[in-house]
Formats: sequence, structure tokens, C-alpha cells
Amino acid sequence: MIGLSTAGQALCGPCSGVDLTYTCSQCGHSGDLYQAGRCARCVLNERLTNLLVTDGGTIPPDLDAVRQALCAADRPRSLFSWLDRSKVPRMLVKLAATGEPITHERLDALPVTHATHYARELLVTAGVLPLRDEYLERQPVWVQRLLDAAPDQHRKIAAPFAHWFLLRRLRQAHHQRGGRRVQGGTESILRSRLRRALELMDWLDQQGVSLDKCTQPDLDRWLDEGTSTRQHVRAFIVWARKHQFVGDLKVPLPGRADPVTFIEEDERVEQLRRCVDDEELPLWVRVAGALMLLFGLQGSKVLQLTKDDIVDDGASLALDLNGRRLYLPPKLAHLVRHLRDQAASRWRLDQMADTRTWLMPGQSPARPLRAEYLSLKFRDYGLSGLAGRNTARLALAANLPASVLADLTGTSVDNAVRWTKFAKRDWTEYVAARKRDTQN
Ligand SMILES: [Zn+2]
Repeated sequence: MIGLSTAGQALCGPCSGVDLTYTCSQCGHSGDLYQAGRCARCVLNERLTNLLVTDGGTIPPDLDAVRQALCAADRPRSLFSWLDRSKVPRMLVKLAATGEPITHERLDALPVTHATHYARELLVTAGVLPLRDEYLERQPVWVQRLLDAAPDQHRKIAAPFAHWFLLRRLRQAHHQRGGRRVQGGTESILRSRLRRALELMDWLDQQGVSLDKCTQPDLDRWLDEGTSTRQHVRAFIVWARKHQFVGDLKVPLPGRADPVTFIEEDERVEQLRRCVDDEELPLWVRVAGALMLLFGLQGSKVLQLTKDDIVDDGASLALDLNGRRLYLPPKLAHLVRHLRDQAASRWRLDQMADTRTWLMPGQSPARPLRAEYLSLKFRDYGLSGLAGRNTARLALAANLPASVLADLTGTSVDNAVRWTKFAKRDWTEYVAARKRDTQN
């Protein structure tokens, strides 16, 4: 057994002091005995050691880091059934057996399965692989697939547009966010922009018109005949004009649609009260809900919060939103402190991940919870995510100048101006009318 007893001693720290009645016969720490007088952590350590050992009888350093990360789990018992079923340990041993270092690229070459995905997450958590934005990495693959399916003459034009404009912009956005994931919408817009460019070229082919001969009336007709997503062709037209693939064409800017989903103000206040007071709700749901319902913050923004975004002097607590401070009322501040401490102690166990301390870490502590999961949980607990956020924004917009609203919610000034304009209308009537519409 490689370093089992020393590693076991070190790793059983968290379970010490829980119960003084039982003591693990292996590591000597008191706590939850699992098998033959040994604690779950010692048993887990032994099983992992047996699984990850190579033919030479040793554990390669990369896999040892994985072993340590898994052994540091909050609840070692929860890993046993996973170990029984998972293909991941075998996969890791196979990867390590070549003697080559394990890299993202080597994982990329494997079939895209759940096990590959999990192995990667585990290696990131263990600090063996650097954190990589998987969403970002997926885009070039997707772009290439779409380009491969296009006719040659379209690909010739669309490929430089995709590589030198779309993907480059996405990488820049990623970089500007310090490696944090760009807003989910950015990627879907990228895809839509490329799709629309290819669709336009297809349509022009059918009309017997080449791209360079496309006139404004042609373009207007194409825009008019489709849904509003055809507006996404604008980026392509601007780019193509600059590179002289098209003449002087323009895609008119759309009037932005008003937000359509709201809840009644009473309902917002009631949901907010539940987030602040209801101890039956998970802590992270309470914090996320309160921030959205009180300040109209975007769910995706809330999920990106880290321990470092919290400014706490013991007396008052603020969130740092892109350099602007948002002070929280005492009850909410208390919840946020609590969540921060929880996240920090979880992070201490997983700090090999060398990653940010997400306030709301996902299943892999290297990443925050997904927005889809947030929506799902909100629905489970009867909270209105987007609609509640909209009502909160509206209430704020009615009372605050646009620039303050922008600061407060971290939205752009343009967007805030739109909200304040919108709030000036008699929106109670508007909300009531929409309610009638949906009831009919
Ligand atoms: Zn033990």
C-alpha cells in the first residue's frame, strides 16, 4: 500500500471530534465506523488505492492526486456505490499506463461519453488538469461541423467569418471575463449568426443571385419572410461588407421587445419573504432567490458570484458587481455570510482544484451550478425566476434613474434606460392585461 497509513491519517482529520465513542482501528480517529472497525474514509482510501494502482504496483502521481481529491470528499460513504459502477477509475488507469502525462487533448481524443466528461471534471478538481471552459472549447467543433456540411462556395466565405470574427470575439469575451464563462446567450448567438449567414447564402442560391449581387430589397425580403432570428445575420453582413463580399447592405436594428413575463408585486414580496425566512428551502436557493427578487439580478450573474465578490467588514456586507458595491440588508447579509462560509469550507477540502471559491458550487466544485439547475430548483420551490426578476427590476426602475439601476443590477445603461422607460408606463394595467390574456 503506497503511503496509505500517512495519507489515511491526514485525510481522516475532518471526521475527528464527531463522536468520541468509536475509534477507527486504522487511523485512530473517532467517527463513523464503516467496515471491520475502520472509518469510511480509510476504507475508501484502500479501495481507491487498489483501483488506481498500475501493473508496476504504484499509483502514478496524477492518479494519486485524484485519490486524494476523492478521499477528501465530505461524505466518503457516498462514493462507494459510485466506485462499484463507474468506468472512470479504469479509464484513468488506462490513460496513466502509457506513461504520458494526462492532458485535455488526450481526453478530447476519447469518445464523448459521460465517463470521459466525469474523468475530466475529476482531474480538474484534483488539480491535475487546468480548468478549461468546456463550453468555449466545444464551439470550434460545432462550427467546423456546420462548415463541413455547407457547399464549397459558401464555406469559402463562411469559414473566415466563423474563425476570424465569431470565434475570435467569443475568445475575447471569455478573456475579458478573466476566463469565466461568457453568458450562455453569447454562444447561442454565435451559432445563430453562423447559421443565418449560411441560410442567407442558400436562399440567394435558390433565387439565382450571387452574394456579391445581393441587393437591399433582396436582403429585406429574406429578413421579412423569416422569424426575428434572421436579424442575427447582421454580424455577417457587416463583416462581409468590410471584406467586400457584399455591396452596401444594411440590416435594420430591431426595436427591442418589451419583457413579457411578470408576477404581481404582492407575489414578489411573498416569495422574497420566503427566501429570507423559510428555513426549509436550501440556503443557496434562498440567497439566489432573494438577490433576484430584491435587486432584479440575473440568475446567471448570481451563479457566477465567488467568495471574493463579497465585501464584508463584519458590520455591513456588500456584493462587488464589476467594481460596484451593492449593500445587502442585514437578514440577507446574514444568509450570504452563511453561504460563503459553507462554500469556503467545501473549497478547503477541494482546494487542489485550484479554482475560484464559487458561492454556489456545482457537482464538480471546479464550476458553479448551471443556470438550468437553478431554474429547475426554483420551479420545485415555487419561486419565479425570470418573472420575479422582471417585477423586481420594474419596481426598482420606477424609483431609480437608469444610471443607478444599471449600477445596481449590473446591466448595461442602454438596458436600464429601456427598463425605466418601460416602468413609466402604467404597467399595473399591462400586467393585468397579460394575466387576462393568459387566462383566456
Ligand atoms: Zn480511519
